[in-house]
Amino acid sequence: MNHIWSPWRMEYIESNKEEGCVFCSAQQMEDDTENLIAFRGEHAYVILNRYPYTSGHLMVVPFDHKPNLEELNPLTRAEMMELTSRCMAVLRTIYHPEAFNMGANIGESAGAGIKSHVHIHIVPRWQGDTNFMTVVGNTRVLPESIERTYERVRNGFLEG
Ligand SMILES: [Zn+2]
Repeated sequence: MNHIWSPWRMEYIESNKEEGCVFCSAQQMEDDTENLIAFRGEHAYVILNRYPYTSGHLMVVPFDHKPNLEELNPLTRAEMMELTSRCMAVLRTIYHPEAFNMGANIGESAGAGIKSHVHIHIVPRWQGDTNFMTVVGNTRVLPESIERTYERVRNGFLEG
């Protein structure tokens, strides 16, 4: 394992093989701590990762169920980049991270957890952030509850 742990190498325990697509079902629900959608744009939205690498681990997801970026329309791609940038602005205000990882796993061999619905990860990082998260088995214990993170990120978008 490398010195700097890349979140892209270990994607989620989210393969709880539920029926259907978790992103498509999330976007059909009302936005709250159940579906974790913090902000909806016109073509894409911002959702918290239920199994975050660090507090504030967000994902930008298109409403369109497509496995890769090139199958999306240009407006959707443009908005995804805009939302990615807004995520970083909001996270900077809330968590004052020192750095970010931003990227996508496209396809199974790249480590995608949900490979049929493309999504961009935004992960705030701090020097030595793996130290303040306790790793028990596969469960990482974060300094803040997901409900609290949701509230903070959602307000961040409302204020931004
Ligand atoms: Zn989907």
